[in-house]
Amino acid sequence: MVSPLKKSITRLIILVAACYLLPVACYAQAPQYVRVAVIQDAPFVRLKIKGKNLNTTVTAYKYGILMGDRAVRSDKLLIKSDGPDGIILGGRLFRGDIQFIKKDERRLLVVNYIDLEDYVKGILYNEASHYWPMEALKAQAIVSRTYAVYQMRQNRPRDYDVTADIYSQVYGGRASERYRTNKAVDETRGKILAYQDRALPAYFHATCGGHTEDASLLWNINIAPLKGVVCGFCRQSPHFNWHSVLSLEEIAEALNKDKYRINNIKEIKILGRDNSGRISDLRVISAQKEFKISAKDLRNILGPNVIKSANFQVQVAGGDAVFEGFGWGHGAGLCQWGAYFMAKQGYTTGEILKHYYPGSDIRTF
Ligand SMILES: [Zn+2]
Repeated sequence: MVSPLKKSITRLIILVAACYLLPVACYAQAPQYVRVAVIQDAPFVRLKIKGKNLNTTVTAYKYGILMGDRAVRSDKLLIKSDGPDGIILGGRLFRGDIQFIKKDERRLLVVNYIDLEDYVKGILYNEASHYWPMEALKAQAIVSRTYAVYQMRQNRPRDYDVTADIYSQVYGGRASERYRTNKAVDETRGKILAYQDRALPAYFHATCGGHTEDASLLWNINIAPLKGVVCGFCRQSPHFNWHSVLSLEEIAEALNKDKYRINNIKEIKILGRDNSGRISDLRVISAQKEFKISAKDLRNILGPNVIKSANFQVQVAGGDAVFEGFGWGHGAGLCQWGAYFMAKQGYTTGEILKHYYPGSDIRTF
């Protein structure tokens, strides 16, 4: 006699196999689904589906994927969610479908196929406080949706469109949803920013410190809406100024861990700034040698939350480097705290977005 659990697994696998055979057909007609890499390089994943009474472990094995003691001879396994309960992975609840992809015998990639609107609901709380003014939350919802659509188009040949961390947007699944952030998503449903008929790479950052950055100086993106604007709204942001002290020794250590070879740093000189006030390059000098480094590289090497922006002064004194700077983040696109204060002053979502992405327009996706 087959146990109810085994029966349930069998039904699920049949469903999975049916969809697995036609992965493109399942989703090619539905580009509004975002593929989020929620777990990467895991040796095993705990999978629970309440409505299906399923609670098991998924692992990779030589010929495919094991779900409990059931073997699926395939490198991809799609679990369709057809009930309201959602799927629980490693204790976290997710909306939408889940795909397990075997990378090798010890590593699984887990991708959440999720409706674009639900995805934006799962990130908005992590990208902006749910206490923020509604017009600012709506602006952030449109920006986050636009950035997701941009990544969906860029990453089509890959196994997933976005990661669930800061390298894309921080996605927390259903646990991250709040009433006001969901409301902001619902009130802007399907709306994205476009430039020349294409989804804009809608970059955003915490605080610009007075002037947003020209994205072409950071990445290979040279378009009118991302050339940088005067902000003037984020002066009261808690991140408008920053201050960091690092010993010259720890700076040398961090540089040596990367590709730069230097000891006994004597001086750090700023070589030039762009129109926004951000530093383009610096020179790091010791008694024996010196080299040029971009502010972007130096920030990444010393830590983007230690050197919070590329707009700073640096003074070397008594074995330390003292950094005094403005803003937090790369500075391209929307200044989130600028948007917050614009909304407080009565600007609408449309006005906020026109200000930070001039020349773009809001379209329905
Ligand atoms: Zn700003």
